[in-house]
Amino acid sequence: MESDGEQRGDRGGDRPRLFQRLRELPVVGRAADWGLGPAAVSKNTKRAGARIAGLEVTESVCPYCAVGCGQLVYTRDGELVDIEGNPRSPINQGTLCPKGQASRQLIQQPGRLTKVLYRRPHGTEWEELDLERAMDMIAERVIAARENHWQETHENGWRVDRTLGFAHLGGATLDNEENYFIKKLFTALGAVQIENQARI
Ligand code: SF4
Repeated sequence: MESDGEQRGDRGGDRPRLFQRLRELPVVGRAADWGLGPAAVSKNTKRAGARIAGLEVTESVCPYCAVGCGQLVYTRDGELVDIEGNPRSPINQGTLCPKGQASRQLIQQPGRLTKVLYRRPHGTEWEELDLERAMDMIAERVIAARENHWQETHENGWRVDRTLGFAHLGGATLDNEENYFIKKLFTALGAVQIENQARI
């Protein structure tokens, strides 16, 4: 007797074949072409095609959320020119939501901060900090919070070895690899609350 998984797999595998065979029927194929073929390409899309002609293209993944849409990143001499949805991606099939379409601004938005800014306790102004100094300050605070709030045992006597002195909330522009290392690091430090905006 087949397992549930095998039964599900078989049904899932048959579906694309069925659609393909339907699509091969002349009437169905023509109807599908009227909706999706060259007749449906707008003037703007044609102009966009001319704009990106000759550019170097690299396949990438949108960093903004856990959907993981495929992107095509267009560059000229190493400079970013455009980002579009990747039609080869089974997830988004060439589309991008407004956030994904605007991801070029992660790099080229004129208001993007490129220096570390620090506002000290009770301060009213932002101060520029050297990156190395800022990283040292963060490390000092993490170590102090861990030591000051370390719990070996729960009030019920259970062994917990954890700290509730800090948590981590990642941002949407962190990629998979960064999130992997953040989870490893904060778990090793004893943090319990480790989340990412993309999952909320
Ligand atoms: S933010 Fe939008 S484009 Fe980016 S992965 Fe999520 S749904 Fe896709």
